[in-house]
Parts: sequence; C-alpha cells; structure tokens
Amino acid sequence: MRNMLNIVLFGPPGAGKGTQSPMLIEKYGLIHLSTGEMLRDEIKRGTPLSEEIKHLIEAGHLVSDKIVFEMVREQLEAARSPKGFIFDGFPRTTKQAEMLDKEMADHDTKIDMMIALQLDDETIIKRIQRRAEIEGRADDADVSIIHTRIKNYNEQTAVVMDYYRAQGKFHFVDGNKTPQDTFAAICAVIEKVTK
Ligand code: ADP
Repeated sequence: MRNMLNIVLFGPPGAGKGTQSPMLIEKYGLIHLSTGEMLRDEIKRGTPLSEEIKHLIEAGHLVSDKIVFEMVREQLEAARSPKGFIFDGFPRTTKQAEMLDKEMADHDTKIDMMIALQLDDETIIKRIQRRAEIEGRADDADVSIIHTRIKNYNEQTAVVMDYYRAQGKFHFVDGNKTPQDTFAAICAVIEKVTK
C-alpha cells in the first residue's frame, strides 16, 4: 500500500469545500480534484461534451457518472507521485463512490476518510447567493436552481455518507462556523485518523 493521504471532502452545495481545500492542500501537500471545477473547465474549453454538461449544471442536476468518472480518472493518471488527493464534490453518487474505490485499489491505495461538512439549508442558501455576486456562476444566480441542487443533494448524494459510514471512514464537522474554525475542526479529524 502506497503511503498516501486520500480525503473525500463532502457536504451540500455551498458548504465551503472550495474554501477549505486550498488550506488543506497547503498544510498537507495534497492534490485538489474538484469535479465542479473540471466540469466548468470543460464548458470553457467548448469540448464535445460541453453543451450537455452546461445544460445539466445550469438546471441544477448532476452530470452523468460516466462523464464525471472519466475526468477524474484522467486527473488521477496525470498525477505523478502524489502525497495524496482531496476529492471535492466527488463522489456524489454511490456508483461514483464504488468506481473510486475500485480505481484506488487498482493503484494500490485507498480512501482514508470522508469529512462531511454539515450545515443548515438557510446558511447554504445565503452563502450561495453571496458567492453568486462574487463568482457569477449561472447555477448560483437563481434561487429555484439552488433549491433543485439541495433537493438533488438530499436525494442522490447524501447516501454517499452511508457508504463511507459502513466502511468506518465517516467523520462530520460543523460547517456553520467561520472558515478558520471549520479548518481547525477538519485538521483535528485528520490528525486523529492518521495518528
Ligand atoms: P457546489 O459545491 O456548489 O455544488 P460544485 O462546483 O461542486 O459546486 O458543482 C457544481 C455542479 O457541477 C453541480 O451542481 C453538478 O451539476 C456538477 N457536478 C459537480 N461534481 C459532480 C459529480 N461528482 N457528479 C455529478 N455532477 C457533478
């Protein structure tokens, strides 16, 4: 087993995964794999799949497991001697979690832990609306699309927590706090698990 630290950073849309990831990368020397960023990049580059992806994201729906997994696999292959990965916004379905486990095993490594940020719907909506003003993402701009994303999270994505719970890898952190306090709580989990 290669000596890596592989973390699934989990939580509803707007939970703060994109804020925490750079801090974790810096502290632990990990590679950041954000499927949301990969998909937005695909749209920007106007690849053959970009129209389909754009349509789904702007409606607040998930992109297919197959498309997402191909992108993740490519990035995993491209990484040379990584210390480990932070998976941000992925896996978002049980199928994706199963594919990731298999891919990790094929590379003689594994997922060490899932850290799930938990926060109230009200805070989520407020944060996404603030982000809409800063980043200008189309899927952040409309409150009915935000509701669709939260609904899809509850219906398709929240079950991924059970998947990792069954493997004894689930940890949760209160995401309602400040970025610094949340970061400290995440680091405390990592230290405990890797001790
Ligand atoms: P947020 O954390 O606000 O949901 P992301 O950047 O993680 O933002 O995701 C934006 C959108 O990209 C999602 O609403 C979804 O449409 C799509 N997406 C991202 N990751 C995945 C994934 N693993 N599987 C399917 N769709 C995804």
